[in-house]
Order: sequence, then C-alpha cells, then structure tokens
Amino acid sequence: MSVSQRTCSHHEGAPAIAVCIRCRGDICAECHRVDLRGMAICQPCARQLSPPNIPFESQSLGPTPGGFAQTVIAVLSAPRSFFGRYSQPKHWGLAATFGMTCIAIGTLLNTLWQKAFADDYTDRLQHIHDEFGVASHIAEFTLFATIPLTAVILYFLHTALLYVALRAFAVKEASWPLLARITGYSLAAYLLLIFPPIGQFSLGHFLMILWLFNLEVSAVRHFFGLGFWKSMGVVLLPFMVFIFAVG
Ligand SMILES: [Zn+2]
Ligand SMILES: [Zn+2]
Repeated sequence: MSVSQRTCSHHEGAPAIAVCIRCRGDICAECHRVDLRGMAICQPCARQLSPPNIPFESQSLGPTPGGFAQTVIAVLSAPRSFFGRYSQPKHWGLAATFGMTCIAIGTLLNTLWQKAFADDYTDRLQHIHDEFGVASHIAEFTLFATIPLTAVILYFLHTALLYVALRAFAVKEASWPLLARITGYSLAAYLLLIFPPIGQFSLGHFLMILWLFNLEVSAVRHFFGLGFWKSMGVVLLPFMVFIFAVG
C-alpha cells in the first residue's frame, strides 16, 4: 500500500502523508512534526524527543514549593549544563518570579547572618535611626520589609545590564525574554547565602558569586555560541557594575 492510501496511526480516517522514522507509525498532516535533522516524526514521538520543562514551569509541579525546590536543586547541582537540559519557551514571567523569590530568600538569610554575626549590624540600625529619626525596632522592620522591593529592583537591573552587555558585544539574538529566563534561573545562586560567614570571610557571598557567574557564562555560551573569553567579558561587565552598585 502506498502512503496515500494509509491512514494516521493516531487519527482514525485521516489520510497519512508520511511515516514516522522513530516508531514507524503513519502520520497525518495534523500529527506531522520534524526532528532536528528535518526527518518526519509523529507528534507523540516529538513530545518524547523535546527536552522537558523546568520543574517550576512543568505541568505536574509548576510554581509550587516542590517545583521550586526541584528547580533549585537542578540549577545549583549542574550550573554548566542546566540551560541545555530543559526547553526554553518564550514566556519569562515564571522565571522572573523564581529569580526574585531566590533573591528575596537569599537577602533575608544574609540579613539574619548579619544580625547574628556582624559587628556593624547595630550601627546600620543606628544609622537608619539617625537618618530618618525612627526607633530602632522600626528601623529593623524596615530593613526586612524592603527585601521584596530590593529583589524586584535587583532582578530587573541585573537582567537589563546583561542585555546591554550582550548588545555591546553585538549579539543580535539577545532578546529580553531569553535573558530574563537566563537571569531568573541563574539567580538561584542567591540561595547559597544560606552558608554563614566564617569569621571575616563571607562564604555565602563567595559561593553565590561563583555560581551565578558560572551559570550565566554557561548560558551565554549555550544560547549565543560565544567563545569562552567573550562570554566571560559579557557576564563580567554587568557583574562589576552590579557588585560596585550593590556592594
Ligand atoms: Zn512516532
Ligand atoms: Zn494524525
């Protein structure tokens, strides 16, 4: 029987126009997909071949505590291969939410460590007290209450700087949705602020910067095919501004 007389393996009565090279099933126009080499495959096979969604955006977990935790583990355990292992849809809202949540939690942990260990913590409260004339418990409340706002500002600032840096290096494929996803998931590195300082050495800060840098350099190399040094340059630029601005 020629292909034209056969019907789709997935849709009864629909005329087949091709044969899936993977499962050998007949494919109708509606089921017709192509693999990376341009060969015909059916829709179920295409779904199996395409990379999975990031847990935080998956159908089964999505933006739940479980989806959040699994995504954090996936990002932090494999900073060099994370972006290549998952599909990257156009929308970036969930990635941004994820990133801002990580900054907020990281900053909260960092503030708690400072409260526990830093000598200048009371000085900072005193400074707010002197500057704005508020009682020190209100100053402390303000310190914690402004964390979410700080997270939003840091996220957008960081993404915008990476965007500018990539444009400066003439990378035309650098679109906002993709960059917003890169920074959103890379900012999981902020959770490494869970490590307390050891004496004068800020272990958490050190690890956070190392991981963030690693994640973003790997992402830039993966998505834009930049060489090692160029990727370093692109990521370093917003990093320097970021570190000088934020301290
Ligand atoms: Zn198939
Ligand atoms: Zn079909």
